[in-house]
Amino acid sequence: MSKKIRLVDENGIRTDGRKPDELRPIKLEVGILNNADGSAYIEQGKNKILAAVYGPREVHPRHLALPDRALLRCRYHMAPFSVQERKSPAPSRREVELSKVIREALEPAIFLERFPRTSIDLFIEVLQADGGTRAAGVTVASLALADAGMPMRDLVAACAAGKADGYIVLDLNDIEDKEGEADVPVAYMPSLNAVGLLQMDGQLTPEEFEQAFNLAIEGCKRIYELQKQALKAKYLAIKEAVEEAVE
Ligand code: UDP
Repeated sequence: MSKKIRLVDENGIRTDGRKPDELRPIKLEVGILNNADGSAYIEQGKNKILAAVYGPREVHPRHLALPDRALLRCRYHMAPFSVQERKSPAPSRREVELSKVIREALEPAIFLERFPRTSIDLFIEVLQADGGTRAAGVTVASLALADAGMPMRDLVAACAAGKADGYIVLDLNDIEDKEGEADVPVAYMPSLNAVGLLQMDGQLTPEEFEQAFNLAIEGCKRIYELQKQALKAKYLAIKEAVEEAVE
């Protein structure tokens, strides 16, 4: 099968000008929705994703309540205008799968046992999608949980690596995701050295898989630093506002 699109040129540069081991530009903001207990926003390349957290709060319907811990519920949703071909507003199989894997990546980070018989509800809204939204969804949701004051073992940072035109590349964009040979999304808690999400789409040799996995972990570590900066930025802004008000 002849390939139409060249993903990496002869100088090792990708379609968006990045080197193989480069992340897309990332912007993170914390505490942007007044009505949620915690919220955050991420732009990663052309991805634009919002996360909101409610809880711990009373569980409805009540029979879902767990006697020994909080119930974490997660809804990953793509807006109909988030992709080039309008997406149906009805939940797709893919959204159901992504809601589950994102929840499972975040669950080990939260001290759920401190809030028995309550629910923590997490909403991830993809406003614009450009590949790697499950990873960016985990990153932004983890910040929204921290913003809600949720006691956590660590922040969860997520990033994909994969293969495009024979190169092992970090943080695949939409075209690399669709036309590339493989995609390996990873979610990682750096202080615990624990992986909460590991999937693979496509084909890699065992050696290539190891390279892609290690590169994704490296990407997660860089994203983790940005997450911490975004959390600090919120509190520095509050501190400055308080100081100004007192003066
Ligand atoms: N995508 C799309 N239409 C859809 C679903 C996905 O155009 O209905 C695009 C979108 O840019 C998404 C990418 O395909 O980011 C890759 O989707 P995948 O299922 O691999 O999940 P992701 O990489 O976003 O975690």
